[in-house]
Amino acid sequence: MYRVRLFAVRHSRAFEWLYARLESTMVALDPLFARIGYGRIERPIAAIERATKGLLFDCKMCGQCVLSSTGMSCPMNCPKQLRNGPCGGVRPGGYCEVKPQMHCVWVLAWDGAARMKDGSKVRDVQPPVDRRLEGSSSWLRVSREKAAGLREAREASRTSIAKAFPDARAHEPAAAPLATEPAAAIKPGRDQ
Ligand code: SF4
Repeated sequence: MYRVRLFAVRHSRAFEWLYARLESTMVALDPLFARIGYGRIERPIAAIERATKGLLFDCKMCGQCVLSSTGMSCPMNCPKQLRNGPCGGVRPGGYCEVKPQMHCVWVLAWDGAARMKDGSKVRDVQPPVDRRLEGSSSWLRVSREKAAGLREAREASRTSIAKAFPDARAHEPAAAPLATEPAAAIKPGRDQ
């Protein structure tokens, strides 16, 4: 398991790309998920997430995944479960103070982040773990929140257009015929 974790950190850039694809797919599936019911799909998706991430990252299913900000090194594998950098006890060579046979997850996080396209996120300050989310699917929560954000942004832009042109619909209904193309716009030799 530990070796697989090291592999994930070494290939953090590929995993970053995969995660981005997974997220956009799940965001696109939001209408389907909403129709089935997010409550209903929570358990099966969480089971898939647990199996996949357990194998690749030794995931503890904290429910608030930060892998994309920590170079694909899971901070919950830190014996002290520190989410914002290492403690002061890192041993020479970057080994853990509590488990000397293991690299400090934050030394790995820094290494993994340096390989990633958006590795600067490693500097983001993470909020404390919300234990109520333990065992739930991060994939589902993040994609659901993102889909809701996109919906709100679309709605806001529609509202601002409506506000900018309050009388537009009254004078030019959507079904209005298109105006004739001016002759100057028709290029010579083009089929007419
Ligand atoms: S941060 Fe949480 S959800 Fe992400 S891999 Fe670690 S334990 Fe799992």
